[in-house]
Amino acid sequence: MTVALVATGGTIASTPTAGADAEPDLRGADLVEAVPELGELADLTVREFSAVPSPHFTVERMHDLAGVVDELDDDGGVTGVVVTQGTDVLEETAYFLDLCYDGDTPVAVTGAMRNPSLPGADGPANLLAAVRAVSSPEAADLGVLVAFNDRLHAAREATKVHTTNPDTFRTPEFGPLGVVDEDRVVWYRAPTRTDPTFEVDADRLTADVHAVTATAGMPPEQVAVAAEGDGLCLAATGAGHVPPGVVPALEDLVAAGVPLVVTSRCPEGRLARNTYGFRGSEATLRELGARYSDVNLQKTRIKAIVALAADRLEAAFERP
Ligand code: ASP
Repeated sequence: MTVALVATGGTIASTPTAGADAEPDLRGADLVEAVPELGELADLTVREFSAVPSPHFTVERMHDLAGVVDELDDDGGVTGVVVTQGTDVLEETAYFLDLCYDGDTPVAVTGAMRNPSLPGADGPANLLAAVRAVSSPEAADLGVLVAFNDRLHAAREATKVHTTNPDTFRTPEFGPLGVVDEDRVVWYRAPTRTDPTFEVDADRLTADVHAVTATAGMPPEQVAVAAEGDGLCLAATGAGHVPPGVVPALEDLVAAGVPLVVTSRCPEGRLARNTYGFRGSEATLRELGARYSDVNLQKTRIKAIVALAADRLEAAFERP
């Protein structure tokens, strides 16, 4: 087994510097060196991609990272890929990779909530779990994984739910695909809802896709501003509802040809199709020609950006 570690920064690679709070300054090689048990599982090679906190990631950087993963998949000697990243936008990066990747080499993304200088630092255990996950023969068919706190999630489904607790990644409603028990990887389910793979044209990548959460009596300006952008992803209330006051702004946006993609702000459940008919309900969204998404708002935005850059918005989201 040869596992390639692609280090990008984040808490897993952060240490406090004299008199200051933690910042990413460790290299991937340092992360590997700190976990001697890795050597019993695989030969580790390291790609030093970056040393940044994850909120510094852009969609261009995610695309570059997807290129590195593809390159490693093409390298016949690599049997698994582990990406380390900060946890804040890890779910977006992992999903970006998932949407662009159709290789056979298992890929997992991991990180840490407690930096290596803190008691109970979780980076080493997460790295070990991620290497175990990509060394599991079944992992190749499960898409990009998020490995965290011994739970193995689909990148499409995992979301960060806690600001500081090491048990921060969850798959709402359905739970993880598998777990790491002692030194074994145990799979419980396979994702049946998957996405097409998109071939991104780097010149078409845009960050100008707005992501807005609907709230009671929200100012219409919050959605109107997206009329100047490349898309609006809207987390509607409940099963797909918005305050009536924003409907005219949504109509203008759609008339201007800006794609409107709707998901729910509820962490579980899907959008309704034919339950309510009030103004601002799913009936209004249907009339507007809104596209439906079944992933959370931040992932919906990533999917819209990737699909726009591949010129395949129709393949990405259904219109009920
Ligand atoms: N708190 C973050 C982390 O878990 C910082 C970051 O996302 O880089 O790594």
